Amino acid sequence: MAKIRFQALAQALNREPVNFDETVKRSELFGQNVFNEQNMRQFLTNEAYLGVVSAIEHGTKIDRKIANQVASSMKQWAISKGVTHYTHWFQPLTGATAEKHDAFFEPIGGGLSIEKFEGSQLTQQEPDASSFPSGGIRNTFEARGYTAWDPTSPAFIYGTTLCIPTIFVAYTGEALDYKTPLLRALHAVDAAATDVCKYFDKNVKKVTSSLGWEQEYFLIDKALASSRPDIMLTGRTLLGHSSAKGQQLDDHYFGSIPTRALNFMRDLETECMLLGIPVKTRHNEVAPNQFELAPIYEEANLAVDHNSLLMDIMGKIASRHGFKVLLHEKPFAGVNGSGKHNNWSLSTDTGVNLLGPGKTPMSNLQFLTFFINTIKAVNENEELLRAVIASASNDHRLGANEAPPAIISIFIGKQLTKVLEELQDVTKGKLSPEEKTDLKLNVVGKIPDVLLDNTDRNRTSPFAFTGNKFEFRAVGSSANCANPMTVLNTIVAKQLKEFKIDVDKLIEKKELKKDEAVFNVLREYIKASKNILFDGNGYSEAWEKEAQKRGLSNNKTTPEALKVRISDKTIALFEEMKVMNKVEVNARYEVDVEEYIMRVQIESRVLGDIAGNHVIPTAVKYQNTLIENVAGLKEIFGNEFEEHAKEQIILIKKISEHIEAIHLKVHKMINARKKANIIDNIEDKAEAYCFKVKPFLEDIRYHCDKLELMIDDEIWPLTKYRELLFIR
Ligand code: ADP
Ligand code: MG
Repeated sequence: MAKIRFQALAQALNREPVNFDETVKRSELFGQNVFNEQNMRQFLTNEAYLGVVSAIEHGTKIDRKIANQVASSMKQWAISKGVTHYTHWFQPLTGATAEKHDAFFEPIGGGLSIEKFEGSQLTQQEPDASSFPSGGIRNTFEARGYTAWDPTSPAFIYGTTLCIPTIFVAYTGEALDYKTPLLRALHAVDAAATDVCKYFDKNVKKVTSSLGWEQEYFLIDKALASSRPDIMLTGRTLLGHSSAKGQQLDDHYFGSIPTRALNFMRDLETECMLLGIPVKTRHNEVAPNQFELAPIYEEANLAVDHNSLLMDIMGKIASRHGFKVLLHEKPFAGVNGSGKHNNWSLSTDTGVNLLGPGKTPMSNLQFLTFFINTIKAVNENEELLRAVIASASNDHRLGANEAPPAIISIFIGKQLTKVLEELQDVTKGKLSPEEKTDLKLNVVGKIPDVLLDNTDRNRTSPFAFTGNKFEFRAVGSSANCANPMTVLNTIVAKQLKEFKIDVDKLIEKKELKKDEAVFNVLREYIKASKNILFDGNGYSEAWEKEAQKRGLSNNKTTPEALKVRISDKTIALFEEMKVMNKVEVNARYEVDVEEYIMRVQIESRVLGDIAGNHVIPTAVKYQNTLIENVAGLKEIFGNEFEEHAKEQIILIKKISEHIEAIHLKVHKMINARKKANIIDNIEDKAEAYCFKVKPFLEDIRYHCDKLELMIDDEIWPLTKYRELLFIR
């Protein structure tokens, strides 16, 4: 039985680094496989080029004639690079990306054939999508789904396939993917933020949301990973005693990158360059065999596509290097899990980062406006932000003694806290000339210096301001960033819309000057949003108590956290901002609740199998060896045998106890599952899985891990933590 483990170990130990030579400068590789501006200019007619640019910049429709021209040029470009197939590339609610390849090749009769790709094939397709989760949308409406070209994310070549980023919607218009609501949210925040910018600069015509993600992951030898059924089927270890050495010495973080891992990274980064993913940073993370990759930030929709694409190609490239990539939030107990910080900001078409300090008091007042509105938006929607990153796998981080807690709070640092305190004392109504001057010179004017000194970063905060952006750190490593980005941009859009109304009211009714009105509104916003600001230790019990007093939510499990996703307030928010209608909101909720149920169900089954098929038989086998030994001792020593067999007898008993406990608990877990499975209401079912089934996972694991320590290493069938985490 332990054969697989030892074969895997032999394979892993014998593996040589796969060389990867970088011969061409990265700047030369960048975007080579992307139908980007440069390639469009080269391959498109001027008319078609302008049509696409206008669609990208203003969302105008691309007519059939232009679409035909674009398709023809895309085909020409792709074929010149050895491409044979094309696919609409989309992000259904499974969280992964989806593709169905069609050949350009088409027979035209008489034994002849051509390479064909027309505008209609570029702009729309109808994949047989009946097996994608839809949360009941397609059933209720008996509608089919179709994919439609998203020109704001350029087509790219992967392997020999031309991939066209698309949205995926039902014929009745409901979104069936992650991208559609994201695009709507980005549109909403653009409209609302542009309106607000006009207070400060009339020239602003567009505001873009930017995202810079930081992807954490584990790299485990492929053979070792394959030797573990739990890793193969659930992406994480469901059992395994912790290694004597873990991350205590902090000797991995930012350490020198192991050669095999480095070669993988160079290979991956080269592919990223070709695909136009601007990756920049790589390093070892805290846990052994844990790493991070981060790009330079991009427009949010593109950044989301790039992260989804990255997660897909990581696995493929890792395989070439004999690795398996684990994107799960908590693959190993006892060492850090993986997250995906979402760095977020807004910037104008005039080149101003709205969350960065400016050079003049006016531009700093603009910064404060966006800064404070974001804080207020998060304060009022903290529970929704928590809900949107909830998943069975992320539950192992949030609220489980791992960074960050399940309570959403914002860290802004001491200096900015002081600025807000001063602004909170601004006079009501009209400001005296002295006060205005004082505010401009001493509060608003000093912001750039204040931010330079914004060094006291708090690593426990789930939502932190880091100088020129907010960093949403609670996002899980395996998540599709579209979800958190949709919610964040929607709540900020809604908040900015309200801000505009509030300010205009003061200007009209109280006849305040623009900046006076802005100060007046911000003052009230600061007072109303204080609850969400927290600079202390997010892991402490004191904070849990304090947060409860403040009325902040603390939903530790996914079934609890998800509920707010279908509250009246949430539905009203998404409908008002035209991001999702009630049907879409409900459908997503259902998909996520069901996914939760299935994840826990699968884990429970897998652990039941491993405990029954691997652990208990091994324990019995070892126990038999001990029994044989005791019997032998008895033969030699007669009545004195107990003196010599003391420890063995204790072990035999202990093994029996653990075997019994495992048997009993697996049995109980199966019963709990049976009970849960006949529950019709999916919310109740999810709770049954969460509170009645899931606790057995830890329970059973406890006994299995005890046995791992007792049983002869030579026959233990499951690759151990020290092997998974330290062989590289
Ligand atoms: P860290 O958070 O690890 O200290 P940085 O602050 O340098 O590192 O940046 C982390 C990420 O933030 C990078 O991916 C970077 O591209 C992104 N980032 C920087 N500026 C912005 C911005 N204005 N909008 C969105 N993301 C940004
Ligand atoms: Mg960071």
